[in-house]
Amino acid sequence: MINFVGAGPGASDLITVRGQKLLAEADVIIYAGSLVNPQLLSCAKEGCQIYNSALMTLEEVLDVMYAAEEKGQMTVRLHTGDPCLYGAIREQMDALDAKGIAYTDCPGVSSFCGAAAALNLEYTLPDVSQSVIITRMAGRTPVPEKEEIASFAAHQATMVVFLSTGMLDKLSQRLIAGGYTADTPAAIVYKATWEDEKTFVCTVGTLAETAKKNHITKTALMIIGDVVSHSHYSRSELYNPAFSTEFREAGK
Ligand code: SAH
Repeated sequence: MINFVGAGPGASDLITVRGQKLLAEADVIIYAGSLVNPQLLSCAKEGCQIYNSALMTLEEVLDVMYAAEEKGQMTVRLHTGDPCLYGAIREQMDALDAKGIAYTDCPGVSSFCGAAAALNLEYTLPDVSQSVIITRMAGRTPVPEKEEIASFAAHQATMVVFLSTGMLDKLSQRLIAGGYTADTPAAIVYKATWEDEKTFVCTVGTLAETAKKNHITKTALMIIGDVVSHSHYSRSELYNPAFSTEFREAGK
């Protein structure tokens, strides 16, 4: 059995209870060494074989899984944050499907949630934004043209940009081309939930300068939108005394 597990955004106590249990039971752990906190490996059982996938190809990862499977061992494939975002899990799952190998997927706390927590943000403020766009700039992995940043910027919804810390000049330019003003609130969160976490509140126009001044070149998320400043928003209807819900009558 292979268990894909979300390691959470960084802090070792932000893995799920289920994920931690699977780690403790694993005979083989393959972890994404570039971003997974190595402290998580301390709960591995004695004799567990541990591999760092940052040094491996997909084929090598799969070979370790196949070999473990042949021995009837349990493998944890530990991905940063939640495996469903930029986790490259589909290609692993398809290869396992082709061999008839069973697997499960245990969710984790994504770094975009860790980044919100670092800044005490609510991404979905009434009358400001009710949507979160999760995207990235094109890098070595291309982004489909129909998902160009400027086209998303036109929505003026909250935007969280992954994998783009080295391209902030271009990011600002595309955001502004899409309709954001240069003074739209923005933030950079570096290593959310790690001990050396850093947060910077800036604007769309000052993203690159803020990163440069603070030597942030990787492991960061950019958050764009008025929810960052939360200077105006409407209170929730759910907790409005004048509004009845399934659980509470208005006026109570
Ligand atoms: N599956 C992961 C994302 C993997 S892609 C998740 O759910 O979070 C790797 C990118 O995620 C990094 O380049 C960076 O943009 C972002 N990232 C991962 N961990 C982060 C953290 N603790 N703080 C800020 N950004 C992080």
